[in-house]
Amino acid sequence: MGEPFAERLERLEREAEAGLAAASDVTALEAWRVRILGKSGLLTEELKRIGTLGADERPRAGQLVNQIKRRLEEAQAARRERLEAALQEARLATEAVDVTLPGRGLGMGGLHPLTHALRRIEDIFAAQGFSWTEGPEVEDEFHNFEALNIPAHHPARAMHDTFYLKAGGLLRTHTSTVQIRFMETHEPPLRIIAPGRVYRSDAPDPTHSPVFHQVEGLAVAEGIHMGHLKATLKAFLEAFFERPLSMRLRPSYFPFTEPSAEVDIGCLLCGGKGCRVCKGTGFIEVLGCGLVHPEVLGRIGIDAERFTGFAFGMGVERLLMLKDGVPDVRLFYENDLRFLRSLR
Ligand SMILES: [Zn+2]
Repeated sequence: MGEPFAERLERLEREAEAGLAAASDVTALEAWRVRILGKSGLLTEELKRIGTLGADERPRAGQLVNQIKRRLEEAQAARRERLEAALQEARLATEAVDVTLPGRGLGMGGLHPLTHALRRIEDIFAAQGFSWTEGPEVEDEFHNFEALNIPAHHPARAMHDTFYLKAGGLLRTHTSTVQIRFMETHEPPLRIIAPGRVYRSDAPDPTHSPVFHQVEGLAVAEGIHMGHLKATLKAFLEAFFERPLSMRLRPSYFPFTEPSAEVDIGCLLCGGKGCRVCKGTGFIEVLGCGLVHPEVLGRIGIDAERFTGFAFGMGVERLLMLKDGVPDVRLFYENDLRFLRSLR
């Protein structure tokens, strides 16, 4: 008969307890349960074997098997509870949400400083009755040069470092093209500004970029003179730089205006005393302007005897660099968020 029944059961219980302690997760525990307590499990087999024992042994043996079964079932339930608690704890640790932490924020976007500046410029001129208009960036020679009194071989063409396109046409070198396009389709009186991108074949450096932004202004009506131009620009510049400014017009030359002038404002840094930024002059140049050349008006069929007009053009990057002390125009195109946020 081999090993006595009671001893075998004790050994089985010890082994089962060791197996239970080794079950490190719920799957291992279930395998243990099937192996020991399942329908064909080791303990179930022992129960079946009771029938082969002598009649006097059976009650004690039955009692013993049932005690072991109950102990193992209880141990199993306790072990399952601990494993499930550990599992839950691990899940909570990895999926933890600390509701007391401050939110991460939605990372609100913002306008690019150039877009923001363009909108401000539009607003300031809108308050003076200028409406906003725009024209194409791919232009023809007529609108970019000829209509603006810059015929072929005119020295001013060489100054414009133009990008010519293989398919014909060119990338506009200034927004003055929009003056022409607007006057072709509208009768005076006119008062417009035309903001937009312009292109020059310049190597990028701290003050040059092959693409930059200009805002063109144009007013045509009866009786327009330099006084209107000067007052308009002074009001604009003081609004843009948010301070009272001294301003002067310095005679200059543009093919499409006569007379022409550069506009200087009192140095923003030294207030006119003279410093590195203004090269000791106390003034810095901010834009070019003049009265629309009668040739330009005549060429698009506006009666230059009856109407006069003024025009101006400004570089938006240059104005922003002066206003916010930006040292390098290329910063506007590098999309470094630290720079972009610093100008908000
Ligand atoms: Zn200065």
